[in-house]
Amino acid sequence: MTDCLFCKIVTKEIPATIVYETDRTVAFRDVNPQAPTHVLVIPKGHYENTAALAAADEGLADEVLKTAHAVAVQEGVADTGYRLVFNTGPQAGQTVFHVHGHVVGGRDLQWPPG
Ligand code: 5GP
Ligand code: ZN
Repeated sequence: MTDCLFCKIVTKEIPATIVYETDRTVAFRDVNPQAPTHVLVIPKGHYENTAALAAADEGLADEVLKTAHAVAVQEGVADTGYRLVFNTGPQAGQTVFHVHGHVVGGRDLQWPPG
């Protein structure tokens, strides 16, 4: 998608700090981190939201989940604890319409979230 911010991160038209990559996924640091670890995990292909990702080719959602956990391991938060969040739709505050999971950790996290 020509107009999508995260597609432009995939093609490197927009710089990002990439921390992990697989054939079909990429993970990069959030530009406005909310915790010591705050990494966004996306499929390289454009899917608008969680619903589109859930309906995608076999194994893609699985690969996104596996990348998220690999990031948590690499960041050293897999044992202390982390949260994987997919804001989906207006009431959840989704602002970028290329599906992304937030891997958040490195501090105590509130529950329920705001
Ligand atoms: P959402 O609110 O859609 O769940 O999350 C979008 C996230 O993308 C936000 O946490 C925001 O800080 C992050 N973000 C927005 N623009 C950029 C950017 O250009 N680069 C990076 N690395 N993150 C971005
Ligand atoms: Zn996109």
